[in-house]
Amino acid sequence: MNNEDVVIVGAGVVGLTTAAALSRAGRRVLLLDPLGPGEGTSYGNAGHFATEQVFPLADPALLPRLPGMLLDPLGPFRIRLGYLLRALPWFGRFLLNMRAGARARNTEALRRLNEAALAQWGALLGEWGLESHLVREGSLLVFERTDEAKVQRILAQYLSQGVAARYLDRAALRALEPALSEAVQRGIWFTDTGHTPDPYALSLGIWQRLREQGARHRAVSVAAIEPGGTVVLEGGERLVAREVILCAGAHSKVLAAGVGHRLPLDTERGYHLMLPGHSGLTRPVSSYERSFIITPMAGGTRLAGTVEFAGLAAPMDPRRADILLTHGQALLPGLEGKGAERWMGYRPSLPDSLPVMGAAAPGVWFNFGHQHLGLTQAAVSGAWLADAVLQGQSAPLAPFSPRRFTGP
Ligand SMILES: Cc1cc2nc3c(=O)[nH]c(=O)nc-3n(C[C@H](O)[C@H](O)[C@H](O)COP(=O)(O)OP(=O)(O)OC[C@H]3O[C@@H](n4cnc5c(N)ncnc54)[C@H](O)[C@@H]3O)c2cc1C
Repeated sequence: MNNEDVVIVGAGVVGLTTAAALSRAGRRVLLLDPLGPGEGTSYGNAGHFATEQVFPLADPALLPRLPGMLLDPLGPFRIRLGYLLRALPWFGRFLLNMRAGARARNTEALRRLNEAALAQWGALLGEWGLESHLVREGSLLVFERTDEAKVQRILAQYLSQGVAARYLDRAALRALEPALSEAVQRGIWFTDTGHTPDPYALSLGIWQRLREQGARHRAVSVAAIEPGGTVVLEGGERLVAREVILCAGAHSKVLAAGVGHRLPLDTERGYHLMLPGHSGLTRPVSSYERSFIITPMAGGTRLAGTVEFAGLAAPMDPRRADILLTHGQALLPGLEGKGAERWMGYRPSLPDSLPVMGAAAPGVWFNFGHQHLGLTQAAVSGAWLADAVLQGQSAPLAPFSPRRFTGP
C-alpha cells in the first residue's frame, strides 16, 4: 500500500486547478486519470469565461417551452426517449429548483463564484506565466428576432446582479464585430468576461507547471474511494492518502456513492463543431434565439452548445453537432464547413446548477458538478476547495456542500 499526500481523482480543468492551488501551498499531488490531463470534457468546451451566467438553468420561464424542446431531436435542449425514465428524478428536483426561494439562493451562490472567477484565473495564470490563455475582450449575446423592449428587460436582469453589461444597437454591434450578419439586430456586451483561445492548451499549460513543481499523473481509472482516504484502482491496487479529492466531473456519481453520498448528478451532453477557418470575430458570440456560441480560437472557429440528456454510455448523435453549422452560418455568412470536426462532452450537472464542493468523509473531499461553467469556475473552485482542505474545514463552502442533498 502506497502512502500519498494528496490524491486527485480526475485530471480535467477542475482537477488541475485544484492540484495547482494545493501544489502552490506546498502539497505533493498525484493525479489519477485514465486520460491525459485536460482530455475529457475540458478538452472541447467553448472556451468562454462566462462569468455573466449567474442565473441557474432551472428557470420557470422554460416551462411552457420545455415539453416541445425536450423531444425535438435537433432542438437546443433534448432528452432521448430511452433515457426519459432515468432522468425523471433529476427533472423532479430541477422543477423544485424553479421555486422563487431556491432560485434566489442558487443565483446568489452562482454569483459569488462567478464574481471571483476571473480574479482567481488571473492570479493563477499570472503567477505561472500563462497569461496568454486568458483574453479579456468580453463576450456578446446577440438577438435576431427579439424586440428591443425584451432585450432591455434581459439586460436589466443582468445589471440587477451586478454583471457589467451594455446594450448595443445594430450599428454599435457592427462596429464591434463587423463579421456579424445583417440578420443580427441587437446585442448585449458583457464587458468583463473573457475567453481562452484553446481550452486544451490551457489545461496542458497548467499541467506542465504542475509537473515542474513535482506533481505526478498516473494513467489509471479509480474503482472506488473509501472513507479515511483510501483509493482502490482498477486492478485492485490500493493507495492511502492524507487527502483524496474527487474531481471526476460527470463520472463522479458512483465514486461519491461509495463514500455515502447519493447525489443527483447527471450529464448534460454538449457538442462542438470545430471549423479550421477563422471567423473574423474577436470575442465569443452567443445567440439568444439559437442557444449556441461561436468562439474565435487559435485553431479556427468553434461552434458549441446544445444540451442532450442521454447518460454517459449512449453514442453521440452527429446531427446535433452538424446543426451548429446552420446556426453559425446564419450569424456569420462566410463560415465554411469544410474540414469540420465533431466532438461531444459531458457537462456534469446538479439540478440546482451549483457544483458540489466540500468535505465528504474523513480524508475525502469533493469538487465536481460545474455544469456549463466548469472552465469559468475552475480556478475559483480549486482555490476555495484547497483553502478548505488546508484549514481542515469547509464552512465557507456551505451552499455547495454535498449534504444539501443527503443531509448531515
Ligand atoms: C459543448 C460544451 C461547451 C462548453 N463550454 C463551456 C464554456 O464555454 N465555459 C465554461 O465555463 N464551461 C463550458 N463547458 C463546461 C465545461 O467544459 C465543464 O464544466 C468542465 O470541463 C468540467 O471539468 P471537469 O474537470 O469537472 O471534468 P472533465 O474535464 O470531464 O474531467 C474529469 C476527468 O475525470 C476522469 N475520470 C472519470 N472517471 C474516472 C475514474 N473512475 N478514475 C479516474 N479518473 C476518472 C475523466 O477521464 C476526466 O478526464 C462546456 C461543456 C460542453 C460539453
